[in-house]
Amino acid sequence: MKVAVLGKVDQKGLSFLKENEFKVIEIENFEIQNLKEQLKDVDGILLRTTKLDKEILEHCDNLKIISRHGVGYDNVDLDFLNENKIALCITSTSNAVSVAEHVLSFFIYLTKKLSLSDSLVKEGNFEKRSELPNFFELYKKKVLIIGFGRIGKEVAKRCLGFDMEVYVYDPFLDNEIIIRNQCIPIEKNQGLAIADFITIHLPLNGDTKNFISQTELNLMKKNSILVNTSRGGIVNENDLCIALESKKIQGAGMDVFVSEPPESNHPFFKLDNILLTPHNAALTLECRERMSLEASQNIVFFLKNMSELNVENLVNKKYL
Ligand code: NAD
Repeated sequence: MKVAVLGKVDQKGLSFLKENEFKVIEIENFEIQNLKEQLKDVDGILLRTTKLDKEILEHCDNLKIISRHGVGYDNVDLDFLNENKIALCITSTSNAVSVAEHVLSFFIYLTKKLSLSDSLVKEGNFEKRSELPNFFELYKKKVLIIGFGRIGKEVAKRCLGFDMEVYVYDPFLDNEIIIRNQCIPIEKNQGLAIADFITIHLPLNGDTKNFISQTELNLMKKNSILVNTSRGGIVNENDLCIALESKKIQGAGMDVFVSEPPESNHPFFKLDNILLTPHNAALTLECRERMSLEASQNIVFFLKNMSELNVENLVNKKYL
């Protein structure tokens, strides 16, 4: 059987596919014509961030499974997969911890003023150390977690470790689950109005596009810090720029963008109260190994040994 790997992945997953006697083709040229030709006869696709829509998928005559290297799947035409009984898997156990650590790094970097502190020392301004503006603790601060799935829960654990007050907005979950995780359920607008830190862990879909726009930004406190490691487009980038420029909120950390990579003249780049990372929250060395292996296991188990498959990874099982 043949598997196409779209984009570079850690060797661990490639070795697992080969050990299980799959022919592996690694594809780096994502032009539509090339994909149509190369994917024509593959049984499985291990997919990073390449967009796979109907136009390409219609040419995959043999395709039985797409295995995402990650948990978001807004780059795949899920309706097409459902209609054609093609499985979609994710790596549900691999990346929550890595993303959660990234969120806390944003919080700490933005409040401990690490970059400014570093330049004070290196530029001979040690004596100005008491003059840092907005130099805060996380201790006893209120954090609002929006979306309490795999990643939201890992973020909560870490915030509780810092003795923060953790509020959660997730109307799809029973409040009992939130309370059992030592957090406080809260409505969206109320949470936005009281939080010092806001972190978003939602899937991107029709309901969550522009989930944070001008109206929501206007509710936030002046000292608040907004972090988005979920998907670009969930926060409206223009509205966030205006809020940061006018100091309506204190700061923001963004790992994800509407267009990736962002245009070289993106208005975020002129702001000094935003910290940007290149969608690498889940790209620690450990996480890359885990995702590569789990994505490959999904393919091997689905095609050869269904009883081994982690069914939590199978997104569209009811359509197969
Ligand atoms: P998950 O499915 O485990 O959790 C999502 C949670 O959001 C669920 O509990 C759901 O009830 C809630 N939710 C859905 N719609 C909502 C709405 N309208 N309002 C409030 N809550 C809502 O997903 P996860 O594994 O925690 O991942 C979250 C997102 O993070 C993914 O969809 C993916 O896009 C993104 N992600 C980004 C990176 C990165 O590298 N930056 C890595 C992994 C995941």
